[in-house]
Amino acid sequence: MKIRLAAPLQSDSVVDGFGVRTVIWTQGCSHNCPFCQNPQTHDFAGGEEYEVEEICEELKNLQNQDGITLSGGDPLYQVEAVLEIAKFAKKINLNVWCYTGFTYEQIIEMSQKNNKYRELLNYLDVLVDGLFVNDLKDLNLLFRGSSNQRLIDVPKTLKNGKIIIIPESDGIMEKFKRKEKTYI
Ligand code: SF4
Repeated sequence: MKIRLAAPLQSDSVVDGFGVRTVIWTQGCSHNCPFCQNPQTHDFAGGEEYEVEEICEELKNLQNQDGITLSGGDPLYQVEAVLEIAKFAKKINLNVWCYTGFTYEQIIEMSQKNNKYRELLNYLDVLVDGLFVNDLKDLNLLFRGSSNQRLIDVPKTLKNGKIIIIPESDGIMEKFKRKEKTYI
């Protein structure tokens, strides 16, 4: 199985979720959020194709990563491939975050036509959902660009049957709070 990526794997990121993470920048997105910061990831024919196996092999060989972050583009346009990657990541004890322009509710709805979406939720620790809305942009938000986007605790959400948001007051969140940029 193949996956189209906007860039090679990016390890050691500390701004795409808790801890030290490897980001998988998927290629392709048709949400067209105004002021999107990654317009180069929109073209579904752009980027480069990789074998999913090749990506998994690379993940296996990485050192000192806490997890992976599926981002893009929108990873859900390649749900079959990202599902395989998420499964593999869990197998080797990496936690999995996923960014998407779809909302959790839309994903559940989409699952009625393709159950891979629902299956993917079983392998996610955190889902950051929703479109980027420039009017709701807030630089103080943790791990997301606009305040409509939610940091969803997926295992708890599935267990409780209702959306559980990770609270920003949580001690864990403080620990990983984004550092101020220093300008010199
Ligand atoms: S979902 Fe993300 S990549 Fe797609 S247009 Fe919106 S901000 Fe850009």
